[in-house]
Amino acid sequence: MTVIDIPADSLFGIDNLPYGVFSTENSPRRVGVRVADKVVDLAVALGDDVFAEPTLNPFMAQGKSRWDDVRARITTLVQGEIDDAAVLDVDAVAMHLPFDVADYVDFYASEHHATNLGKLFRPDSAPLMPNWKHLPVGYHGRSSTVVVSGTDIVRPCGQRKLAGDDAPTFGPSVRLDIEAEMGFVVGVPSTLGEPIAPDEFADHVFGAVIVNDWSARDIQAWEYVPLGPFLGKSFATSVSPWVVPLAALEAARVDTPTQDPQPLPYLRGEQKWGLDIDLAVEWNGDVVSRPPYAQMYWSPAQMLAHTTINGAASSTGDLFASGTISGTEKNTRGAFIELTWGGAEPATVAGEERTFLQDGDEVSISATAPAANGGRIGFGEVRARILPATQADR
Ligand code: MN
Repeated sequence: MTVIDIPADSLFGIDNLPYGVFSTENSPRRVGVRVADKVVDLAVALGDDVFAEPTLNPFMAQGKSRWDDVRARITTLVQGEIDDAAVLDVDAVAMHLPFDVADYVDFYASEHHATNLGKLFRPDSAPLMPNWKHLPVGYHGRSSTVVVSGTDIVRPCGQRKLAGDDAPTFGPSVRLDIEAEMGFVVGVPSTLGEPIAPDEFADHVFGAVIVNDWSARDIQAWEYVPLGPFLGKSFATSVSPWVVPLAALEAARVDTPTQDPQPLPYLRGEQKWGLDIDLAVEWNGDVVSRPPYAQMYWSPAQMLAHTTINGAASSTGDLFASGTISGTEKNTRGAFIELTWGGAEPATVAGEERTFLQDGDEVSISATAPAANGGRIGFGEVRARILPATQADR
């Protein structure tokens, strides 16, 4: 039998207990829970076949009372003796996409990011559109290209019209960027025609991951009017492998910033779903930004309420991301287009000058939040490396 050593300052202590999908050379994909530097194989430890599935979806669909029950059992389990066969070193397993992504939607919930992008993309008009403080603006992304941390990102090619060009050209993106975001995963689906109210958020949403919404700014700038982002975003979206359950975020819940004007009634709730999550963006090993989730204008509960208010159903495995997280200060901006002000103010990264991503660059976004015991919990990281374009000759 094994007793897991859980240091008091571990970001993966008993207040966290995130779920992921792992495999080893000898075993196929299955569900595990992260504790300190170990992964506990839940199919073995709990003897429950739902954890022998290759995704979290079947467990997520079982609902909140089941999630609470399993979390209580795991909390007891990991503080006692565990079957040796159920405990693996985190370095000895491969992590996979933790859930089958149903629909993927991305929002635009940071006032500071929306204001900065408005100034950069539309310098001659008001930075915030008239709708922005009345509804959480979003667009439908591409669920089939959501990939797990560690997956290389091939530089996309596409059509773009660069400053000074008379006509569009085709080629590798020259303004490849990141967007540091948090993503929320739906466990319990909703029925067509029955909207989810903001205060029903925790009955539907299972947990949260870190998201990097890779963005080709040159492709995006040329294509986005009037229907929004398309190929400039859909080539890849990366997520962290550990899904932190909402139950682990109780100590992180805060009010959103004051919403003025007051939103319409369907976007109002009694519960606080602002989240005090601190992110860090590392570019080739240098931390270049620390975006604060607590400053996000719209809460994820409002995002889900808005997504379903027209009667649209939501499904197990739906992923909705917050939009780029940017604070008021330059060193809290969650995208390089903001950090370098459209490329006009290059950053020094690991001793080299950078505006947008170069081939071979590596980006890691990590996040932590307050834990119930006064310490902190971690989301781990979403990391990826940029590979050269492969489709340039078209
Ligand atoms: Mn985004």
